[in-house]
Amino acid sequence: MSALDKSIFESYAGLEGRQLLEPILRDFGGRAAVVSSFGAESAVLLHMVSEVDKATPVIFLDTGKHFWETLSYRAMLIDRLGLTGVRTISPDAADLAAQDAHGMLHQQNADQCCNIRKTLPLQKALQGFEVTISGRKRYHGAARATLDFLSIADGRLKVEPLAGFSALDISAYMKAHDLPPHPLTEIGYFSIGCEPCTSTGGSAADPRAGRWAGTAKTECGIHWTLNGEAITPESRARH
Ligand code: SF4
Repeated sequence: MSALDKSIFESYAGLEGRQLLEPILRDFGGRAAVVSSFGAESAVLLHMVSEVDKATPVIFLDTGKHFWETLSYRAMLIDRLGLTGVRTISPDAADLAAQDAHGMLHQQNADQCCNIRKTLPLQKALQGFEVTISGRKRYHGAARATLDFLSIADGRLKVEPLAGFSALDISAYMKAHDLPPHPLTEIGYFSIGCEPCTSTGGSAADPRAGRWAGTAKTECGIHWTLNGEAITPESRARH
């Protein structure tokens, strides 16, 4: 089956969570990659992945700006879940030298900082993959409120198995499977990205309020299409 075959939407209709993840990994094994930040709720999707196929490629973008707690949590989760396909991707050294030699670009131009530290490295890392899987949820609001379980963008099938999960679903899953929390969630962080752009300002009802707080920015850009267009049902229909 091709990831770009429009009939794919019927093939997986009505599925979510592990019931969606399992056939996707079965049908696109080796051609599907999970993208994970190893953040506040990442353990849920990673646990599902580990139960289906521990060798699934998992892409982690090491921006060079993560909390040390995230890097420590990543190592612990990889070990705990037995994941063998995690790939750590770094920004291009030439881009950093040319545009962010002092590591302060996030203060002057956060969009460009995300571009060289996240978007461009991810585009390179995804070459050869037909399917990307991430753990975004509608309950996080803003652009995510209308998230589809399946969409097509940039020539790939995008799969969001947890789109319909609520905060309660996440915590119930974590509890049922005895998954360890990200250490920063215990001191008030609800959504966790790079250290300079993450604060404790979020809440259970609005977990991403602590990301780029006080600015209009709500997304880093890795979930947008290559031309900067948000992924919507309309953009999906055009691909
Ligand atoms: S989240 Fe902040 S530090 Fe991280 S890449 Fe984006 S702007 Fe840079």
